[in-house]
Amino acid sequence: MNCIFCKMVNKEIEHHIVAEDEKFLAFLSLYPNTRGVTVVIPKQHFSSYAFDLDDSVLCDLIKFTKQVAKKLDHYFDDVGRTAMVFEGFGVDHVHAKLFPMYGTAKAQEHWQCIKSSVDHYFEQYEGYISSHDYKQVDHIDLANLARHIREN
Ligand SMILES: [Zn+2]
Repeated sequence: MNCIFCKMVNKEIEHHIVAEDEKFLAFLSLYPNTRGVTVVIPKQHFSSYAFDLDDSVLCDLIKFTKQVAKKLDHYFDDVGRTAMVFEGFGVDHVHAKLFPMYGTAKAQEHWQCIKSSVDHYFEQYEGYISSHDYKQVDHIDLANLARHIREN
């Protein structure tokens, strides 16, 4: 199979493991946008949409990913939290991406709000997910949308 993550599992491609058990593998991203970005995969190949996985596979993946996230929190200075993202349009082998959130140690110890200054609204997926807030939406619009989603 021509899957880069399966090739890592089979040790055909150089990668840098931070955690592993019989079912899962966590390795450092080769293309990190911050230090220590980590990819967590099941060793078995599954297509990349996490919400198409069986519950048991997804739950086990998330449990393993949690252990890895805590390892990153502990290891990196000034990382109080690590974010987990499932996207899957880079490689079609299901994977969680972990992003150490630098500068969050104090905010984690005594919770404090950290806001973004990003001013961007997505009309379509641009190859990455951002969790920043945008402008507040009208309650009537949200109420209609919520009703349509519920009733669909
Ligand atoms: Zn694969």
